[in-house]
Amino acid sequence: MCFGLSKAFSTILLILLIALATPGVLAEGDLDENEEVVTEETEDEDEDVADIDDSLPRQTTSTQPTFSRAYGNAEDIQDKPHKIAPNIDLKEVAPAQTSKSFFTEPENPEQPQDIQPEPRTPELKPETTPPNSITLLDTEVLPGTSTRIGWSPGLQISGLSSPTPVLVVNGIKSGPTLCLVAAIHGDELNGIEIVRRVLYDLDPTELSGKVIGVPIVNLQGFQQGNRYLPDRRDLNRHFPGKADGHVAERFAHALFSQVIRHCDMLVDIHTGSLRRTNLPQLRADMNNPKVATFTGGFDRIAVVHSTGTRGMLRTAALAMGITAVTMEAGESLRIQQHQIKAGVNSLHSLMEKQGMISRLFTWGDPEPIYYDSYWIRAEYGGILSSKITLGAQVIKGQVLGVVTDPITNAQYPIKAKGIGRIIGMAVDQVVMSGFAAYHIGTEAEVPAE
Ligand SMILES: [Zn+2]
Repeated sequence: MCFGLSKAFSTILLILLIALATPGVLAEGDLDENEEVVTEETEDEDEDVADIDDSLPRQTTSTQPTFSRAYGNAEDIQDKPHKIAPNIDLKEVAPAQTSKSFFTEPENPEQPQDIQPEPRTPELKPETTPPNSITLLDTEVLPGTSTRIGWSPGLQISGLSSPTPVLVVNGIKSGPTLCLVAAIHGDELNGIEIVRRVLYDLDPTELSGKVIGVPIVNLQGFQQGNRYLPDRRDLNRHFPGKADGHVAERFAHALFSQVIRHCDMLVDIHTGSLRRTNLPQLRADMNNPKVATFTGGFDRIAVVHSTGTRGMLRTAALAMGITAVTMEAGESLRIQQHQIKAGVNSLHSLMEKQGMISRLFTWGDPEPIYYDSYWIRAEYGGILSSKITLGAQVIKGQVLGVVTDPITNAQYPIKAKGIGRIIGMAVDQVVMSGFAAYHIGTEAEVPAE
């Protein structure tokens, strides 16, 4: 009996030892040592900060943007009641029309008609349709119609893969193709709502051009409230991706080659990260004349010059000739009505400016263009308590917040280094030394080199 107990104890001990040893073995064997992986200990600087830190300065020798941002008086954004999905066929994810499908819908012989988008303009003659038709993900979307298509990066077990929706509104009249992309970081929610409001407000029988919306790019991250991909990488560091690369590169390649390449213009919608919040703003390479002109179409939203970071969707798209900006609005893991309204309003104005819709849009007072901006970091670890609010104008030496050491009671003020406006900031939280706490934008241009 005594022997029996001892044997049982040994067995339990052995199981415990194996359980303790296993994660370490998996972690090491999992990836090449040269591949960078985001972990809690060695996290990459997120693009909200790196985007600014890595940016090349504004070229003062180049000509100023050729648009005027003075558009008249501000008017409150009107909220209209919305019907449920009035303009997009949500009956079923549209099936692929060729054998090169990304996903296979189960056959439904009883309702074969239900999954076909129906033309909303009966007078449309078949022989006149081809010029404005768009074929996306093997699905043809006729002019004057809108539909929902499923997209999957095709990296999971095919039978378990759940496609993420791609909403397509193909206008009856010709025009540019605008793409709206959100939740590349799965915990950034405001953009999802911005895409929904914009897409469902469009009438394909009145639209000129095409609008493609991908509300939730990183579906798995979204479902888990997680910024990163399942392989713990930041998707917005790996565009345009590689067909034979690691998980994030393949994911990026699939999105880029199957959806993004159809765009003439792209707005990639994000929020602040790691418990930071951003004033509604565009991140745009103002050294690029096409981009600079493009930003003039966004009503009442600040523009922050940034040449971008390698691997971001915005920079990869721009390299492909797609006019692209990043929109930042608010903070992650929250739905913020004010930020969402600002984003929707500026996208309406953009479509009007591009001649895609005609609603006699009333322009507000222009927001500044911040040709220069910088992050101020906490010099000490502790509990951050801010003394200013987002959007505040600050002067040199002004105390923006105080970091308090909860153990020693030492207090360390964080001060502004010059005149500017708080265009992004950390919410009150525990910070470590080096944490980017306040993003200050200045309208003054960078002096010539
Ligand atoms: Zn983001």
